Amino acid sequence: LVNRSDFLHALENDIKPAFGTSGEVLEHFLARGIINWGTPVSSILEDGMLFIQQARATDTSGLVSVLLEGPPNSGKTALAAQLAKNSDFPFVKVCTPEEMVGFTESAKCLQIRKVFDDAYRSQLSCILVDNIERLLDYGSIGPRYSNLTLQALLVLLKKEPPKGRKLLILCTSSRRQVLEDMEMLSAFTAVVHVPNLSQPDHLMAVLEESDVFTKKDLSALSRKIHGHRVFIGIKKLLALIDMARQTEEPYRVIKFLSKLEEEGGLDMGSSIQ
Ligand code: ATP
Ligand code: MG
Repeated sequence: LVNRSDFLHALENDIKPAFGTSGEVLEHFLARGIINWGTPVSSILEDGMLFIQQARATDTSGLVSVLLEGPPNSGKTALAAQLAKNSDFPFVKVCTPEEMVGFTESAKCLQIRKVFDDAYRSQLSCILVDNIERLLDYGSIGPRYSNLTLQALLVLLKKEPPKGRKLLILCTSSRRQVLEDMEMLSAFTAVVHVPNLSQPDHLMAVLEESDVFTKKDLSALSRKIHGHRVFIGIKKLLALIDMARQTEEPYRVIKFLSKLEEEGGLDMGSSIQ
């Protein structure tokens, strides 16, 4: 016999959302891992550990909110997911614009509200709000956005969890200026910049991690990019490496370099000292 309480129990515990459980979503965000391509990556991970400790500490306020902002493709979502994972908090929930496609403004607000309400019930909770500007329906043409969702988020970002409960909020955005204009930046405990790779050494660190290039390829690449300007997001770089992987061995290096230049990630015309 199945009664109402079984049904409610199942609804709460057994029925998985269409986009997977939060653990699965985190793993999906981290499918390609985190490559430590330089000091910016290690300092973000180190600062992240401090925020996690701060959120855990019993003598501080129960709320720590961190914004990871940086250019598109710089690795914001994956780093936020890594921090959520590092926190080891038992309750982790992800809010992404993807799972709210087609929601009305008020449905979106209700959904976000529910995530926070669930978090307040747990001792140690971590909420990852991915791509805030898209959650707010921000469009760069004709700037418009959902004021209702903005106001709801602003309230939740500032609201202390109940006494004794701890909440770590991790948000990502590639539109720092937009959030600043919406007076949202000041609502965060801390704003962390996630940069693009910007030095030949950064690029070489990623290339060496991939199993695509031979030792000989790598030294050829190192010589070619030495002294040139590099500027590319990790996500785009990994896509270019995948493309090189599909290219026949003898043309790999040349193909990779020309694609990199085409994408604006490498400026062979200029040189830096
Ligand atoms: P978008 O601007 O489209 O939201 P994003 O900045 O959120 O992009 P991610 O979606 O996080 O970028 O993509 C980064 C990809 O690079 C992920 O697949 C991640 O596993 C991989 N990656 C490897 N090394 C790193 C690193 N050091 N930092 C971040 N991501 C990394
Ligand atoms: Mg992202």
